[in-house]
Amino acid sequence: MSAIQKEELLKQYFGHPAFRLGQETLIDALLSGRDVLGVMPTGAGKSICYQIPALMLPGITLVVSPLISLMKDQVTALKQAGVAAAYINSSLSLAQYLEVLRRAKSGIYKIIYVAPERLATEGFLDFAENAELSLLAVDEAHCVSQWGQDFRPSYLRIAEFCATLPKRPTVGAFTATATDEVKRDVVKLLELKDPLELTTGFDRPNLYFSVETPGSKDAWLNAFLSERREQSGIVYCATRKNVEKVCDMLRERGYAATRYHAGLEDEERRANQENFLYDRARVMVATNAFGMGIDKSNVSYVVHYNMPKNIESYYQEAGRAGRDGTRAECVLLYSALDVRTAKFLIENGEENEALTEEERAFNRERDLARLVRMAGYGKTTDCLRRYILQYFGEKAPIHCANCGNCCGKLEEFDITTEAQKILSGVTRVERKYRSGLGVTMIVRMLHGSKEQRVLELGLDKLPTYGVMQDTDRSTIRSYIDRLIEKEFLCLTDGEYPVPRTTERTKDVLFHDEQVIIYAKKRERPTKKKAAAAQTGDGSLFAALRELRFEIAQREHVPAYLVFSNATLQDMAAKQPETMTEFLDVNGVGSRKAELYGEAFLDCIRAWKEANGKEKSGIWT
Ligand code: ADP
Repeated sequence: MSAIQKEELLKQYFGHPAFRLGQETLIDALLSGRDVLGVMPTGAGKSICYQIPALMLPGITLVVSPLISLMKDQVTALKQAGVAAAYINSSLSLAQYLEVLRRAKSGIYKIIYVAPERLATEGFLDFAENAELSLLAVDEAHCVSQWGQDFRPSYLRIAEFCATLPKRPTVGAFTATATDEVKRDVVKLLELKDPLELTTGFDRPNLYFSVETPGSKDAWLNAFLSERREQSGIVYCATRKNVEKVCDMLRERGYAATRYHAGLEDEERRANQENFLYDRARVMVATNAFGMGIDKSNVSYVVHYNMPKNIESYYQEAGRAGRDGTRAECVLLYSALDVRTAKFLIENGEENEALTEEERAFNRERDLARLVRMAGYGKTTDCLRRYILQYFGEKAPIHCANCGNCCGKLEEFDITTEAQKILSGVTRVERKYRSGLGVTMIVRMLHGSKEQRVLELGLDKLPTYGVMQDTDRSTIRSYIDRLIEKEFLCLTDGEYPVPRTTERTKDVLFHDEQVIIYAKKRERPTKKKAAAAQTGDGSLFAALRELRFEIAQREHVPAYLVFSNATLQDMAAKQPETMTEFLDVNGVGSRKAELYGEAFLDCIRAWKEANGKEKSGIWT
């Protein structure tokens, strides 16, 4: 009975035909009154695990969530789906707060999202003690652990809150952080009772991973984005300065880009985030301050302009792409210089005063070890998906057939002559300037630049001045990167690293060692071309997306809350003609069919008339 009911609710409210891996097990446990700890990667569908029980259990489900923006989004999505929900956090005025409490007391809401700080307040405790609370779901449960990166002291009060209630609700904890320390902390500090622990696989099959090592990141980014003007995506940079620079560069080139970092005023951050969520700005350029709690499901790519400090951060940030299950791309722009900068920041970053010197040394060592693994990702020629999954302790096939290394054919290039020119140039610079010169100056010298600074330094007097005048600067730069990787050069430590010769330099200069590099062909897998055709101008998908945008504008909600990209794609493929067929589209529940069905059916009808009625061959 309950199995049928569960699936009916999944279809009716959320429009999904079946549960994903792990969801049903967690739901069953919660329904039977057992605590759970659900560890699933971002985008796996954790919310459904407590939202379905919330609909089935008597009384109210409280969801503790750390971020205001996330709560608002989730509640809007639930309301759209026809579920009575509300949130309580500091964004409400006193009058609004009291009104929500009044309604909650009268039993209107099935689900209430609440900020952890609120649990301990008198008014809320009073309400909670007198309400029928069946379930307490703790979202982003890793925030309770000091091991995690997002520790929130207020999460430590959750267990206490449960203990003060006349009847302890079932507790479900959910997180995407899988390390043992964090899991142990969550069970202990939230006082979970004999919880069912479930960790689902970390693989995200719809994500296409790749690493690029362009000589000019800006030129690469420009080319990449020019093919994706209609898509939303995030570009992560390591520093605020880079965010500003990249965002300005993109704006100058006519992209609707916006920015986000901790140095901006609250008001601007809020507005920029909203512009991105509502698709008014397609590209978000941000530091890692952006993202936690961002539940935008139609992010089609995440580009890392700079390399993050570890694979945990990378996978979390990259994982913000493709949450709706449609194909999305995660690209890391790798450069040896970024590794050096990250190392410098770990070694010279802000010290946590609360730690002893021994603990700090331990943390530094740990962070450096993690950085080495991250840099390994940038350099590996093996399957990238496997590299990540193995890092998280999962088994994975040798080839995934869906990452840059598995799909891109590697081509061999002999760059011995170029390497000799560069190494000879660095040797001469080293002799002339004891403290060396940065990569940019070396590139200019080799290219024969007439810029004032080059002439002032007398670089035009060196015999290697201009020896690579026929090679463009970005290519010279990428060769230098490859020589560093192969240890024919090294970079000094410090804030301004400079290239230096190594023991191996002379092997190339004097002992005829060949320098071979492997670079990817610029070919993309065919699947992607098909996907582009499906979403190109004039396609039914484009027409549906346009309609979605209009509705979203009218109703003041982000477009993906009307329907996700995955839903629009399924709609474009199925081309429903009747309301019954419309309900068969993945992601269409009864409430949304009622709200938007007619408009979308009209749109499909009109598109078919304009494009001939044939179902097949529409993408070609
Ligand atoms: P998480 O919290 O784990 O990061 P969400 O709960 O936000 O993930 O879900 C991510 C996306 O997956 C949402 O767009 C949601 O609609 C979709 N989703 C969840 N469960 C299913 C399902 N059973 N079938 C299809 N899509 C689903």
